[in-house]
Amino acid sequence: MNLAAKNRPQVIQKFKEEKFDLIVIGGGVTGAGIALDAASRGMSVALVEKKDFAAGTSSKSTKLIHGGLRYLKQFEVQLVREVGLERATVHKIAPHLVLPEKMLLPLTEDGTFGKIGTSIGLKVYDMLADVQGDDRRVMLGKKATMEAEPLVRTSDLTGSGLYAEYRTDDARLTLELIKTAANYGAKSLNYLSAVDFNYVDGKVTSVNVKDELTGEQFVMQSDYVVSAAGPWVDNLRKKDKSMTNKHLFLSKGVHIVVPFERLPLKQSVYFDIPDGRMMFAIPRLRVTYLGTTDTPYKGDINRVLANMDDVNYLLDATNKMFPSVDLTPDDIESSWAGLRPLIYEEGKSGSEMSRKDEIFESKTGLISIAGGKLTGYRKMAERIVDLVAEKYGDNTDRTFKDCFTREIPLAGGDFKNFAEVLKYQTEMEKLAESASLNPYYGRYLVANYGNQSDEIIEAMKTYNDDANIALTRAELQFCLANELCMKPMDFFNRRTGRLYFNITSIKPALDAVLADFAKFYDWSQEQVAAEKAIVLQAIADVSEFEEVTA
Ligand code: FAD
Repeated sequence: MNLAAKNRPQVIQKFKEEKFDLIVIGGGVTGAGIALDAASRGMSVALVEKKDFAAGTSSKSTKLIHGGLRYLKQFEVQLVREVGLERATVHKIAPHLVLPEKMLLPLTEDGTFGKIGTSIGLKVYDMLADVQGDDRRVMLGKKATMEAEPLVRTSDLTGSGLYAEYRTDDARLTLELIKTAANYGAKSLNYLSAVDFNYVDGKVTSVNVKDELTGEQFVMQSDYVVSAAGPWVDNLRKKDKSMTNKHLFLSKGVHIVVPFERLPLKQSVYFDIPDGRMMFAIPRLRVTYLGTTDTPYKGDINRVLANMDDVNYLLDATNKMFPSVDLTPDDIESSWAGLRPLIYEEGKSGSEMSRKDEIFESKTGLISIAGGKLTGYRKMAERIVDLVAEKYGDNTDRTFKDCFTREIPLAGGDFKNFAEVLKYQTEMEKLAESASLNPYYGRYLVANYGNQSDEIIEAMKTYNDDANIALTRAELQFCLANELCMKPMDFFNRRTGRLYFNITSIKPALDAVLADFAKFYDWSQEQVAAEKAIVLQAIADVSEFEEVTA
């Protein structure tokens, strides 16, 4: 197991010594999916991530495993079919983490979709994704819609469509992929960036990397290199001098989070907004989150934040759909802002550009992949690894197994079916209560860590603290031991989602968490103070919004 934080020096040593079949650059969902696919088919794989796993777009999505209903309107039938079918597969391999979520699509007198159009559209959506039984869409009249979600605007409501999607945690999905890949021998490290490439006869043969924690630079050898660097893909293509006229277009998408009591939705809603776009309102345990925006982005891609314009846009649209709630900026607990790495298309706006993925093959042998959806990560990985396997087939007599990731349960997700998850969740709720926690934490733990949750509740006994702090420390213990958790923000953001979904829990536990980090990594008081400042800044970044000056 190479994902214990303490093993980092040994893994670095292996990175210096071994020649790999494949180096994957980027530890978002795409890179993590490629690492698992390649390792499970028998390739030796190293993955390098410059920040933390999922620190890019893969912790900033709407967190839905969805078919992309709106792409039907753009006639992207193939894309909708592929990701639509993938929903059930990703649910099957991680049933604790990819949870069924019914979506209500309210219909209004002047809305984008008429009743008949919606009914047909949702039916086609179900057919493309082979949706079965009770999960098939139903059309509701006005009264039934008001019962399903009493907060929707009724003045021009004509009815709704109710259809099936799935909700997830994108960062946890990425982490569990990295852990599962490790079980097949893939070696992954965060805080290790690919700087540039070395060539022999014009072909990439090695990657110069930098350890972002120590500053050390060294060389990693491999037969093939895949860049799954998301919004940074073009930076690496430029280093490889292989830019073509196809390039990325970065579109910013913001979500805001309010306490559940301020928008107590009975269920998720996907609704029209005044500028012709659509947005989601999704209840999630103690909060409801709302998003997203879709605006061209030209700023610093390493620091993307929501601003007051984004907030006003989302609040305005939400208050129009749910007029009785009257949300204001003061209601916002947290937010996140991510970049969609879209493939630029002349004459189209960001929201019109395709969400299809694209593979760029350079003459140097560098393979880059960008675009696509969280939902389609497994198929994207399959295509990339097929390509690498084909290259091996052309140049050597090495062969690899066919892709079988649809059969590989992700770490934490080894349940027979969803009913088993629910049973385990009930047990964890009881365990949480008996450990003096709100039963909410039972559901939270299972959705985050799956069948690894009882181990965490058990570890709470090690700590003589208030239950909430003991739980946080027990989670940290688990993440340090199993998830390459190097910094407090890795923990509060990507490992636990607390920065977005339970932000008020961070400050009370902060000093205890910092003390545990200091003990584990032997940090000085200065390092502790610096990390504390980073956490406090991160809290301010997601909960305070700057006015935009023209
Ligand atoms: P990233 O997650 O950005 O990963 C790239 C990684 O590469 C980063 O972690 C970065 O640090 C690393 N990296 C970059 N340069 C280097 C280097 N030189 N060396 C080492 N590492 C490097 N999809 C869905 O299916 N469902 C949704 O609900 C959904 N909602 C979305 C909402 C928004 C607002 C956005 C922006 C996207 C949404 N998507 C959704 C799309 C989905 O989030 C992305 O397709 C997916 O996360 C992209 O993952 P990735 O791994 O390709 O990129």
